[in-house]
Amino acid sequence: MIKALDRGFTGAVTGWYTENRRDLPWRKDRQPYHIWISEIMLQQTRVEAVREYYLRWMEALPDIPSLAEADEEQVLKLWQGLGYYSRARNLQVAAREIMEQHGGVFPTEFDKIRALKGIGDYTAGAIASIAFDQRMPAVDGNVLRIMSRIHADYSDIKAAATKKKVAAQLAELYPEEGKGLCGDFTQGLIELGAMVCVPNGKPQCEICPAAEFCRARAEGVQMELPVKAEKKARRIEERTVFILTNGSLEEGGRMAVRKRPAEGLLANLAELPNVLGELTPDQALQRAWVWGCSPAGLTRSSKFKHIFSHVEWHMTGYYSTCSDCGTPDEGEPFRWVTAEEMEAEVPLPSAFQYFL
Ligand code: SF4
Repeated sequence: MIKALDRGFTGAVTGWYTENRRDLPWRKDRQPYHIWISEIMLQQTRVEAVREYYLRWMEALPDIPSLAEADEEQVLKLWQGLGYYSRARNLQVAAREIMEQHGGVFPTEFDKIRALKGIGDYTAGAIASIAFDQRMPAVDGNVLRIMSRIHADYSDIKAAATKKKVAAQLAELYPEEGKGLCGDFTQGLIELGAMVCVPNGKPQCEICPAAEFCRARAEGVQMELPVKAEKKARRIEERTVFILTNGSLEEGGRMAVRKRPAEGLLANLAELPNVLGELTPDQALQRAWVWGCSPAGLTRSSKFKHIFSHVEWHMTGYYSTCSDCGTPDEGEPFRWVTAEEMEAEVPLPSAFQYFL
């Protein structure tokens, strides 16, 4: 017998959350700045990986004014390795919006939160419910999975209409405001999706606080849900990457890096010099000569694949010690940096880290 979905479900989820919540640094208080930064970091990244990034970020940029005033390079460096760097840039734009439009105080109304750069429905709902105890659902992949199982609903969870439907279902179930429970319900659902009603493998229905409300469990169809439409295939791009040094980095030698264009993928971040296509050793050597680097031979790396959301880079690297610090005639110039400068100042995306 399945129980009707009502506030009994809400109580089961919030009660379970109170007992089972993981101790995470952004759960120590309900400051909107803390919730916001952690939620943006957690998009596409595992909780365990975010923990360190979050602590480092808060040490360097503890509040909205410090983020608004920071150098973009520092912000990107703090983000290095988390990927999707537009998230970091948007955080800074939004911090500046808060300084200019809201007197430095995080807005409390959903529409004003949602209007900040880089904040979508999910993040706005998370901030409004967790930091401000408002009855605002935050619908992410975890929540969609749980709700599609609870209702045994075979709608495509990638469809905007499904998200809208789930948000409307949840809006009815949120606890009353003023008791500090709205945030627990939001976090309880997300936590349940991460720990019990898991995305990969079998959900742990036997310990699930929502089991008696769950139609998928009653019908034995948990593993068929949720339904996700197939993604479009990613574009493949062959690239040749140059690791050009003018001596051993351990002995003070320098390596060529340059800034990426201001628009598009990994905008404004650093990169190792690279060109489209897979060059042969002769072509690569020629290219390094054209840049004026006077390479003394080349060593080819094994191939490395880096996956972005819409494109895959299949990269071949060539290592070379050069006798001149050359640079291209056009486009961004090379900067020749020491290992220490690379570590401290250069926001090199993980796509290129492999070659170091
Ligand atoms: S009972 Fe099982 S399928 Fe249903 S919500 Fe709980 S873990 Fe998920």
